[in-house]
Amino acid sequence: VRDRKLIVQIIPFENRRQILVTHDATESDRIETMRRDFVANASHELRTPLTVINGFLEIACSQPNLDLKTRMSHLKLMSEQGHRMQNLVEDMLTLTRLESVDYPLRPERVDMDLLVEQIQQDANALSNGRHQITLEIDGPDIKGNTEELRSAFGNLVSNAIRYTPENGAIHISWTMGVDGPQFAVRDNGIGIRPEHISRLTERFYRVDKSRSRETQGTGLGLAIVKHVLLRHDAILTIDSEPEKGSTFTVRFPRRMIAESFAETSVRV
Ligand code: ADP
Repeated sequence: VRDRKLIVQIIPFENRRQILVTHDATESDRIETMRRDFVANASHELRTPLTVINGFLEIACSQPNLDLKTRMSHLKLMSEQGHRMQNLVEDMLTLTRLESVDYPLRPERVDMDLLVEQIQQDANALSNGRHQITLEIDGPDIKGNTEELRSAFGNLVSNAIRYTPENGAIHISWTMGVDGPQFAVRDNGIGIRPEHISRLTERFYRVDKSRSRETQGTGLGLAIVKHVLLRHDAILTIDSEPEKGSTFTVRFPRRMIAESFAETSVRV
């Protein structure tokens, strides 16, 4: 019972006997702590951009004759903070939906060639020519939810871009691995120290908060990835070396290949 929280209740029973009821509250306590931390973190994350926006609004009210250039720069900063709040709220809603039991995965055939090509187009738009992005597609279609997978793979690719300095190289691949199909993103960016790796999929966990914010990060990207992959029976592995780069690999079991999906549905 060490490290566990047990609630023990003694209930009187007939003939001077008693019933001992024990309840293990360790798990419910853990979930309650997680929920509280999430609300505290989310409130903190929203408070910072709100403070900036309110500050500039106060300046606008108290100094109505500010010159146009200053006013435009204030509006730009407010708009950036507005976008930051919007990204955060959207990521929080996505996470809540993914966790909801009322929202089971309805698998469909995912056209992986198309999906991975779209991911590369999004990556090119985000990088805007600052990185060398290469692509390898040699894997099968799978069953799953296209939008969720697009969001998970998109998060991994956008992280690779955001944490890789200019002129860095990013390789995106969809191939057949030993145990099943796999999606991988390799970068030669800033890398991650080993002590952080196991915590990266926790909500709001960031190695360097200011770097994450500078690049419009919400701290929820990898938590979303984790939930999408859980729903697809897939596993995420992270290999990284500081200053050398990182590889994020998503491995799907063979049974998620779309062909076997079609055969099963015919047999049923
Ligand atoms: P964020 O919005 O902060 O990027 P994520 O959940 O997507 O949030 O990632 C969590 C943290 O993991 C990031 O803040 C960053 O420290 C680290 N990280 C993720 N991907 C990479 C990468 N490709 N290279 C280096 N660090 C990364």
